[in-house]
Amino acid sequence: MDIELKENFDIKNLTTFKVGGVVKKVYFPKTQGEFLHLMRTEKNPIILGACSNIIFSSQGCDNTIICTSKMSNLQIRGTKIITECGVKGAYLAQKALEAGLSGFEFMIGFPGTMGGNIFMNAGAHNQSIADTLSMVCVYDKDKDDVIYLSKQEMQFGYRHSIIQDKKYIVLGAEFDLKKENPEKIKDLMDRNLEFRKNIQPSLVHPNAGSVFKNPEHDSAGRLLDKAGVKGLETPNALVWNKHANFIVNKGNASSQDILELMLMMYNKVKRTYTIELIPEVRYIGKMNKREEEICKELYKKIQK
Ligand SMILES: Cc1cc2nc3c(=O)[nH]c(=O)nc-3n(C[C@H](O)[C@H](O)[C@H](O)COP(=O)(O)OP(=O)(O)OC[C@H]3O[C@@H](n4cnc5c(N)ncnc54)[C@H](O)[C@@H]3O)c2cc1C
Repeated sequence: MDIELKENFDIKNLTTFKVGGVVKKVYFPKTQGEFLHLMRTEKNPIILGACSNIIFSSQGCDNTIICTSKMSNLQIRGTKIITECGVKGAYLAQKALEAGLSGFEFMIGFPGTMGGNIFMNAGAHNQSIADTLSMVCVYDKDKDDVIYLSKQEMQFGYRHSIIQDKKYIVLGAEFDLKKENPEKIKDLMDRNLEFRKNIQPSLVHPNAGSVFKNPEHDSAGRLLDKAGVKGLETPNALVWNKHANFIVNKGNASSQDILELMLMMYNKVKRTYTIELIPEVRYIGKMNKREEEICKELYKKIQK
């Protein structure tokens, strides 16, 4: 099979954080057939979408990376939207608007792919993936089989789905949306975009979205702000001045620079509120000794 491959590839520029190192092999399959072939022939590949929720190691990664961003088939049938994992959420939101379908307004301004969005149960503005999803098609690595999961079987929670616990890979999904007046949909999207523009950094300032998850009944941004993290920085990264739960790469940040700043933020909240925040961004790749130490503390409650 002639699958697009980049060798000894510096992955930094694929990530929204613009942080990363060299990876021996990065594949870009275009079809499910190509994707499944790679899953069956590559040893322990890591699957990535738009790389918008990750800190990629500056030391690189020994595993092969399979990037789904070119698996972009999409169909709209009545109120149903059937999408492959590599379709970008923001593009899908636009397509839903054009079809007069409501339920994806929250994804306008989202950089992630649908595979990543389903994995994370991404959400914003009181909407989430779980609201409209009806079925997911996954590859089960253990059984080497393609299976279908219902919404109930996905065990969705706040930034959680069963995909994170099992060795499942999202290949595609079906959503059922609601018919709505396109003007109403557009109006909600415009308001969502305006809200983002006012408080969150755009991708001109490289970032990976919210750094920490919200603890139950509270907001990580509020706690971080009250704990005084705005203004904190390491030589190459800083906490965004309009939202305390965002880290921006000043231009040349390494994965260690980002982790050092995360640890400073985490410790401030821990000391002030005795709350241990849990990272939303995921770490991918090798770790130097210091990174290992930091990740052991930050990711002690997750990292699967
Ligand atoms: C500016 C900005 C704003 C953001 N706003 C929001 C927001 O409002 N709400 C929100 O929830 N998130 C937000 N995010 C975070 C991010 O976009 C989401 O977490 C998104 O779901 C990640 O998708 P991705 O394709 O980039 O995944 P990646 O970053 O490529 O991967 C993230 C994780 O998903 C796994 N994964 C990716 N694809 C698959 C697949 N097909 N099958 C199985 N696992 C897979 C990866 O292995 C990895 O562990 C924002 C990020 C940025 C940069």
